[in-house]
Amino acid sequence: MTTSGIGYDVHRFAENRPLVLGGVEIPHDRGLDGHSDADVLCHAIADAILGAAGERDIGHFFPNTDESIRGISSLEILRRAREVLTTRAIRILNVDATLIAEEPKISPHLDAMKTALAEALALPADRIGIKATTNEGMGFVGRGEGIAALAVASVERS
Ligand code: MG
Repeated sequence: MTTSGIGYDVHRFAENRPLVLGGVEIPHDRGLDGHSDADVLCHAIADAILGAAGERDIGHFFPNTDESIRGISSLEILRRAREVLTTRAIRILNVDATLIAEEPKISPHLDAMKTALAEALALPADRIGIKATTNEGMGFVGRGEGIAALAVASVERS
């Protein structure tokens, strides 16, 4: 059967941090704060694939109290989340995600993000959707305090 899952994540901007989205380092004056590289897009996708499998969230598998994963690339978190599914013979069918940010411009980096995510998820790039929108100046995203991401994933399982 096919099941689907949803993921949502948000990280606040911080000084002196690289900005990593979808596994790609994007030139910007601020990065995102977090225990890992704070890749909000990867985190939303990881929760979506885990949710589609009926598994617990990434906070369970990758707790921010675990010093062994401090600064970890979130592409590695995605690979490990995929392995959780693989060990149960669950296959990812597709992933679709939306980044919500006032800045920076995401579109120049979309292809590189897709390539990185495709490798981490072992999926063809055309099974991965990434969109970006602003929050029209409203709320914490609108004030430029952080970046949010939404994702859905479908998987095939017995
Ligand atoms: Mg997160």
